[in-house]
Amino acid sequence: MDIYDVVIIGAGPGGLACAIKAKELGLSYVILEKGTSVFQGIIDSYPMGKKVYPTIPKGETPPFPDEDLEPSHESVEEYVAKINAYVEKHKIAIQLGEDLQDIVKEEKDFRVVTGQNYYRASNVVLAFGRNIPVDLGVYGDAKTVARRLDNPADHIGASALVLGGGNSAADIVAALSKVKRTADDDTPVYWAHRREQFKVDKEVARDLGEEILLGGNIRILQGAIPVIGDVDKDGVDRLLVGVRSVDYDDGMKLHEGMSFPMKHVIACVGTRGPAPVFARLGLRQEMVGKAGKETKRIVLTPGFQTSIEGIYAIGAAISPAYVVIQEDGTLERQKHVDLIFTAVRDGVQAIEEIARRKRSAS
Ligand SMILES: Cc1cc2nc3c(=O)[nH]c(=O)nc-3n(C[C@H](O)[C@H](O)[C@H](O)COP(=O)(O)OP(=O)(O)OC[C@H]3O[C@@H](n4cnc5c(N)ncnc54)[C@H](O)[C@@H]3O)c2cc1C
Repeated sequence: MDIYDVVIIGAGPGGLACAIKAKELGLSYVILEKGTSVFQGIIDSYPMGKKVYPTIPKGETPPFPDEDLEPSHESVEEYVAKINAYVEKHKIAIQLGEDLQDIVKEEKDFRVVTGQNYYRASNVVLAFGRNIPVDLGVYGDAKTVARRLDNPADHIGASALVLGGGNSAADIVAALSKVKRTADDDTPVYWAHRREQFKVDKEVARDLGEEILLGGNIRILQGAIPVIGDVDKDGVDRLLVGVRSVDYDDGMKLHEGMSFPMKHVIACVGTRGPAPVFARLGLRQEMVGKAGKETKRIVLTPGFQTSIEGIYAIGAAISPAYVVIQEDGTLERQKHVDLIFTAVRDGVQAIEEIARRKRSAS
């Protein structure tokens, strides 16, 4: 059996950037992807027709770390088609349907175990994103609430509710509004967030603003909290969202809420991240953050190596922050914005580090 210089877990932008760099530097590699397509994570999470932005995070400068992976405001379908054409043309080695189960350290290399096979590698890059959805945290059953927008047209003729205060939610609000507006449907798209402030990038805000100016019927619900999942007298699954609460002097409270059929609710309330997977693989994580709000974050060297020599972690899997360990052992929390730019840049740097170590070992 071949021993690869590097086995890459996940065929998203981060994993693909690793493969392209590995090929360029003459390292043997294979990508293992659990889905049925390259960019499966993006296919699963972006709403249909969403524009893909080449956003560069604050503090970073152009150019994009790999121009072949740079989005150019095209739709997600066009972006994925462009990436597929690239993968085919350059014969990038990807094994689809391979779901990582375990990584076992052997004497000189690693055994990477998937549901079906195992692979041997000197190095492993974990580029598997952060795809475990956060629980809605409502009382009752809310299982039929969608986590992504499959087909915006399914919501024509009915009020829709999008939960979440970030870019993903904003994208879905804009996509829904556009489809309704184009179909002359004036039923609203409600956008609810449990906080007062929404947090979106400039490009996303611009598209959303354009949608509002063009006549999109978007209604904002700040401080709105999903409370209970229930079935009404007609047997329709509904989600009750608390939108206002007034305190009375005698300890009573007045609550106002809105109830939406769950089939028209889309929850973009984030993902839990892969901390349990990192723990299972025995990778060091540390609790960091403000007192009372500490979170477990993976510990990495400046070259994205984990506490196990030869295992690296990059991209969305290490967002929104990780802990950098310096040579003298000091730890420092490092913000890590979840963007294609960041994942691609990490992938390039991790492979350069692997190639450098290989050269210095030989
Ligand atoms: C709705 C939405 C809109 C966004 N819009 C933009 C945008 O316009 N511009 C931008 O720059 N960023 C955007 N982002 C963020 C961007 O998509 C991510 O930063 C980027 O996809 C991260 O790349 P990645 O390779 O680290 O992870 P992913 O893209 O998540 O890829 C991980 C891959 O690993 C696979 N995988 C997972 N587990 C396993 C396993 N156990 N074994 C094998 N394979 C596995 C997954 O199937 C997936 O294909 C958006 C994100 C969302 C959710």
